[in-house]
Amino acid sequence: IYYDGKFHTVADPLRHFLDSLLSLGNPIGSVLDKLLIALTRVRVLSKSYEEIMSADEVSTIQLLKNIGFSDSMIGRFFRPFFGGIFFDPQLETTSRLFDFVFKCLALGDNTLPAKGIGEIPNQLAAKLPSDSLLLNTKVVSVDSDDSNSPSVTLESGEILKSELGVIMAVEQPAVDKILAGKKQPPPPPPPGQRKKPARSTVCLYFSMDQDQVPVQDPVLFLNGSGKGIINNMFFATNVAPSYGPSNKALASVSLIGLYENTADDDLRAEVIKELSGWFGASKVESWRHLRTYRIGFAQPNQSPPTDLMKNPNIGPGLYLCGDYMTSATFDGALVSGRRAVEALLKDRALALV
Ligand SMILES: Cc1cc2nc3c(=O)[nH]c(=O)nc-3n(C[C@H](O)[C@H](O)[C@H](O)COP(=O)(O)OP(=O)(O)OC[C@H]3O[C@@H](n4cnc5c(N)ncnc54)[C@H](O)[C@@H]3O)c2cc1C
Repeated sequence: IYYDGKFHTVADPLRHFLDSLLSLGNPIGSVLDKLLIALTRVRVLSKSYEEIMSADEVSTIQLLKNIGFSDSMIGRFFRPFFGGIFFDPQLETTSRLFDFVFKCLALGDNTLPAKGIGEIPNQLAAKLPSDSLLLNTKVVSVDSDDSNSPSVTLESGEILKSELGVIMAVEQPAVDKILAGKKQPPPPPPPGQRKKPARSTVCLYFSMDQDQVPVQDPVLFLNGSGKGIINNMFFATNVAPSYGPSNKALASVSLIGLYENTADDDLRAEVIKELSGWFGASKVESWRHLRTYRIGFAQPNQSPPTDLMKNPNIGPGLYLCGDYMTSATFDGALVSGRRAVEALLKDRALALV
């Protein structure tokens, strides 16, 4: 964690005991904070998935204060760490999601798929007959005629009639467009409250020679300083060497928000300046900027009130899945897909009886 002009290590004692012991006296939270982390771990591990997803909820920031974490622990650790996971530095995201992600982090390792995140759809697709997928084909509308067999209209004008039903697996704003006027609109926000903004991010990538990488460990660098625009960064090739050719390294830098009013060149210059402060200008000046991605809808906004167990069936033969139906994670997206299929199969089985 970058704080007060230097890096301080925060480590999980169950995985990196020595590092965590050495971190006890650092300025990232007190010894009590570190004890509270252990208690939080026990609390979330004792709850089932369903209990977590339907528990009473507050914002994450409120939960952390209720648990008793110090302001320094929240500002220097939780804000950049969970703020980076939720793309929400204010930590307004529901405590349900905090508990869920905390439990995932306690149970599993952080990983990068060796062949990239596209391997998730690739591996799902590999189990299907090769002629069952239409790729690069935009859907413009889905129309239901109350027959349990909605039809799907493609951008080309072609209409596909479903046999068993339709499961829409697109992100939330796309659902609203495709079903415009055909779906019950969501209830308006309570008086005095604004519509929840989507969570956005900007990701910048840099390549460098291996000897220009400041560390070789697979660690996540968090900005705990409360200053600057970088939230977190890491060297992807330290985690998965397959993310670059053998003599090169890849750095991934994340900002929270879209920075719509800052041009790409200015954003890149600002990031390079900040990284130079972190790692030294002599190293960073040799790095080559590869790409900047601005992702307007990185995740749905899941601040309270939330419903993370939404019914996938929204009309005759029409089902929804996606991270906005459950938790805004890969896990949530996959779980919601399974739920939608199970609901469709159950409804069709009942229809046949
Ligand atoms: C930078 C970044 C890092 C992340 N890191 C993590 C992480 O480490 N762990 C984690 O659990 N989650 C992470 N997430 C969140 C995760 O990516 C999402 O929660 C997940 O991808 C949601 O899956 P989904 O299937 O609901 O939607 P998506 O993955 O968005 O898939 C929706 C698909 O629908 C397609 N589509 C949209 N409109 C149409 C249309 N009209 N016709 C046809 N197709 C259409 C889109 O092209 C897209 O392929 C991250 C997100 C971002 C942006």
